[in-house]
Amino acid sequence: MPARIALGGIEAEVVFKDIRNVHLTVLPPNGRVRISAPTHMALDTVRVFALSKLAWIKNQRRSMAEQEREPSREYLERESHYVWGRRYLLKLVETDGPQTVMLRHRTLVLAVKQGADLTAREAVLSRWYRDQVRERAGSLAAVWSRTLGLDVPRLHVQHMKTKWGSCSPIRRAIRLNTELAKKPPGCLEYIVVHELVHLLEPTHNDRFKALMRMFLPDWEDRRRELSALPVRHEDWDY
Ligand SMILES: [Zn+2]
Repeated sequence: MPARIALGGIEAEVVFKDIRNVHLTVLPPNGRVRISAPTHMALDTVRVFALSKLAWIKNQRRSMAEQEREPSREYLERESHYVWGRRYLLKLVETDGPQTVMLRHRTLVLAVKQGADLTAREAVLSRWYRDQVRERAGSLAAVWSRTLGLDVPRLHVQHMKTKWGSCSPIRRAIRLNTELAKKPPGCLEYIVVHELVHLLEPTHNDRFKALMRMFLPDWEDRRRELSALPVRHEDWDY
């Protein structure tokens, strides 16, 4: 059971873990505050730390509230779906063969079995998105690892609620969000480079920023493009 502390009018949950530093996260969509703290840290110390970040927490919650929500999808005819930053209209077709996705001009053709419900349609499309990210990220990671003088890390692509990507320097692995397939390709490249640079520099310090500037001079523009939709962060810790 996580402990709870009150920060002004905001309630935060505190989870004690075997870690060295306090991590504070504001989670979308409602701005829930979660704090991970080292096992032996006193709850009062955690509270003092969190209060020192209160302005930042409020700021995060405000921008989360203002963020445009991604409309929920029903996977119906002529619904808009995005692939690599381009909008397509959904067309449903029935198939006895493999359930798949095809792009034709501005149409995303979703071939599903007869009677496939919303969940089944969503599953086919989200598997396809994952494959898109896996394929493109695979070649990007190969090229960029060479540029950065790294061994190609292991790649995992999955749905993540709060992050576009993450990196585990110890496991030499990077994790990418399936949702990146909906964004312009430059955004995926930015996240791949961002996570790879973490293998050289784990924190977002000046050295990290200097490396990003050197290798991907327009990284801040790409990041802005990414943050125009639901709140997610590039984060390295998992
Ligand atoms: Zn990062």
